[in-house]
Amino acid sequence: NGLIVAIDGPSGAGKSTITRQLASILSYIYIDTGAMYRALALAVSRAGVSADADQQVLEICRQSELAFVRENGVSRITLNGEDVADLIRSPEISLLTSRIACKKAVRELLLVKQREMGKGGGVILEGRDIGTVVFPDADVKFFLSASAEERGRRRYLELKAKGEAVDLDQTVAEVIARDLQDENRDHAPLRQAEDAIAVDSTSLSIGEVVDGMVQVIED
Ligand code: C5P
Repeated sequence: NGLIVAIDGPSGAGKSTITRQLASILSYIYIDTGAMYRALALAVSRAGVSADADQQVLEICRQSELAFVRENGVSRITLNGEDVADLIRSPEISLLTSRIACKKAVRELLLVKQREMGKGGGVILEGRDIGTVVFPDADVKFFLSASAEERGRRRYLELKAKGEAVDLDQTVAEVIARDLQDENRDHAPLRQAEDAIAVDSTSLSIGEVVDGMVQVIED
C-alpha cells in the first residue's frame, strides 16, 4: 500500500532511529529531510560562505545535487554524488544547518524535492515541517518529542560513541539552542500539526515507540 507517513519533532527525540526501523518493518522508503538540510549546510561550509550571505547560500544550494542511495539496506545521503552521510552529523554542521534551514528560498528548494520524492506513497518522511507544510494531507502524522535533558543526553551518547570529544552540558545547551532556532523562525517553524499524534519518548524504549506506531499505521 502507499501511505504517506510524517514524523516531526525536535532534535534528539529519536526520530531517525525510529523512522529507520519503521521503514524497515513496513518496507517503506525512508526520507530523512534533516539529512537534506544538513548536506546543504555542508556544501555552504565547504564553500567558505557565511550563513548570512543569502544570495551566495542560495546559489550553492541550487547547485547542490542531493540523492539517497541504499547501502546494505541503509539509506545514505549523497551531495553531488559523494556520500556525505558521516560528515553531516558534527555539532558545527548541526548549528549551521539550523541557520540555513530558516531561509525561505532554501526551504522552497527542498520542499519541491521532498514532495517529488514522497508523492508515490509507501514513504515515511522525517523532519520538522512534514505534517504541517510538506505533506499537510499525510495519511498518518506523528509528533515525537522528549524532554530537552533526555534529548541532549541521547545526542551526547551518540556523539561520544563516535569517539567525538563532547561535553554533556554543552550538548544539552546546543540541542536547546537549535530547537529555539527551529521553533522561532518565520518559515515553517517546528510545531505539532493539529491532527498529529503526539508521542513522548522520554521514558519509552525505541521498541515501544516503534511498536505503537506500527499499530497505528496498520490500523
Ligand atoms: O533532524 P536533524 O537534526 O537532522 O535536522 C537538522 C536541522 O535541519 C534541524 O535543526 C532544522 O533546522 C533543519 N530541518 C528543518 N526542516 C526539516 C528537517 C530538518 O528545518 N524538515
